[in-house]
Amino acid sequence: MESYQSLVTSQREFFRTNQTKNVAFRLNALEKLRSAVKLYEQEFITALKDDLNKSEFEAYSTEIGIILEELRLTINKLPSWAKPVKVKTPITHIGSASYIYSEPYGTALIISPWNYPFQLAAAPLIGAIAAGNCAVIKPSELTPRTSQVFAKMIRELFPEKYITVVEGGVETSQALLQEKFDKIFFTGSVSVGKAVMEAAAKHLTPVTLELGGKSPCIVHEDANLKLAAKRIAWGKFTNAGQTCIAPDYLYVHQRIKEPFLCLLKEAIQEMYAGRSLTRIVSERHFSRLTSFLNQGDILTGGNASREELSIEPTVLTGITWEDPIMEEEIFGPILPVMEYTELDEVIDGIHKHPNPLALYLFSENAGTQKKLLSSISFGGGCINDTVYHVASPYLPFGGVGTSGIGAYHGKSSFDIFSHKKSVLKQTTLFDIPFRYPHVKNALKRI
Ligand code: NAD
Repeated sequence: MESYQSLVTSQREFFRTNQTKNVAFRLNALEKLRSAVKLYEQEFITALKDDLNKSEFEAYSTEIGIILEELRLTINKLPSWAKPVKVKTPITHIGSASYIYSEPYGTALIISPWNYPFQLAAAPLIGAIAAGNCAVIKPSELTPRTSQVFAKMIRELFPEKYITVVEGGVETSQALLQEKFDKIFFTGSVSVGKAVMEAAAKHLTPVTLELGGKSPCIVHEDANLKLAAKRIAWGKFTNAGQTCIAPDYLYVHQRIKEPFLCLLKEAIQEMYAGRSLTRIVSERHFSRLTSFLNQGDILTGGNASREELSIEPTVLTGITWEDPIMEEEIFGPILPVMEYTELDEVIDGIHKHPNPLALYLFSENAGTQKKLLSSISFGGGCINDTVYHVASPYLPFGGVGTSGIGAYHGKSSFDIFSHKKSVLKQTTLFDIPFRYPHVKNALKRI
């Protein structure tokens, strides 16, 4: 196994020069990154087409555009985020003032997945730079073209001792995890997340884990069905369902099931029929997904091409929790539908399974919304929409329980790559005696 010790040592030495802590240095790095993303836009679009057959529209709206927006916000706000924050001081500490300093951890390791290979490598990097860290990024081996372009761009922008990309697969990732980093930010599957945390435990390195899980989408009897159908069709089938927060399965109220499914079928046809489909990332993933197609009844879709690694947007009805498709995260363009009559059945069903990364509820009723929000723990989500919460830099994005640890985007990205150093600045003009058990007249002794 290759050793990355000298790489990490060189970053550690560079970090110790304190250059990365200078806010002007960080802003300059972020500006350079922004200019490069614009310059490389076409190369990324071509690479995403090669790797996943992503359309130009999806490449821009779900990857490049999101990163440019994160950069814009971070560059504007960093000078104020980086300032020490003065907080209240209790009366017992009279004479002193209290501050929270945000300081970088040091050298960060970022490991990213293949489904949004540019966005999920670049977004944590923005946080790492903003907070003043050095960084090593290990992008996914399953989208090699995008990883190559990303590596080339970073090589042109930054010296290796500051920020670098290490390309490679599982072994490379494991070799990197042998080293002592000061922060690890991992995006990927639950099982690998556990391995990352185990490796981090050896050095007591703090981790952020952005993982996955089965995200429910509930369509209640009082929902606006037409809008629900459109927003679900978009959220589920964008990127061929290979989105960590895509609705994994539908729970539809029995009373509106038939009209809703007609509208869903129409919405899918309108959005995807005759259009080029984003590819399933590998033959292994394709085989796993197509094995689900013989479960339940196919309402729409169901055709798949092994040669092109594409699967039509597919809706399966007549599914129950006992079907194999309900055992693990689907992560593909197949949407199983279950029905319910009472909201409590939904709550009980979800409770029997690990905390979802996302949850979506379509309902016009504030009481129903409140009941669901207060009964189920999930990473984040939407009322009357799907997936859209991820695109707001003002909403921390992350999981809970097995769907993840920690959250990022916007200021949260800065915070998650910063240690919050609490400092009390005490006066020397006087001294309060009460805390010293055996000192009499301490005030007079200064
Ligand atoms: P993955 O866990 O297989 O791989 C992620 C990264 O870890 C890759 O860079 C890979 O090379 C590396 N890796 C793989 N096995 C490893 C091991 N044993 N030890 C160390 N490193 C290893 O995930 P994936 O298939 O690339 O992505 C799909 C998963 O990621 C899904 O579960 C999805 O829900 C999740 N995901 C989560 C988010 C989020 O923000 N929460 C975003 C995208 C994807």
